[in-house]
Amino acid sequence: MKRAIYPGSFDPVTFGHLDIIRRAATIFDGLVVGVACNAAKEPLFSIDERVAMLKQCVLDVPTIEVVEIEGLLVDFCRAMDCHTIIRGLRAISDFEYEFQMALMNRRLAPDLETVFLTPQEAHTFLSSRLVKEVAHFGGDVSSFVPGHVIDALREKFHMPAGQQS
Ligand code: ADP
Repeated sequence: MKRAIYPGSFDPVTFGHLDIIRRAATIFDGLVVGVACNAAKEPLFSIDERVAMLKQCVLDVPTIEVVEIEGLLVDFCRAMDCHTIIRGLRAISDFEYEFQMALMNRRLAPDLETVFLTPQEAHTFLSSRLVKEVAHFGGDVSSFVPGHVIDALREKFHMPAGQQS
């Protein structure tokens, strides 16, 4: 049974993340989507909110589970019986950070492999940070995130339901 983990902040989940999740789910028997509390980032959504939003996105795929990552990723992978780490690569700008992290994780756990997947072109410019920026200023994010995430963004930014987020 091949199980992989896709770790990230998912603050909030976007169609780019979902593209990677769907691709990974077709390759592996089981996929754990691990929501991290990244110490370097101040999140808009709490861990519980991010987990709940992701869960709602993958209700139709029984081989995917969404959980909060506890402790060091490589230890968590072992605890979850995952042998592969999935990361998304959008552009060259992602590469340096992703490469560093993959090599660090390999040093910490040589038996774990990092696999990079790329989303469809339409999602290569998409990031949670940009979605939050657009939503914050009242822009339309409906082509970037699912409906329930739009609702959650509206609530965070105190926007009325009728208004485009
Ligand atoms: P992190 O804080 O771990 O970078 P993110 O939620 O920003 O968490 O991203 C998680 C992973 O998903 C990273 O590998 C990132 O490069 C990837 N990713 C983010 N947005 C996209 C996208 N639009 N298309 C493909 N991969 C993406």
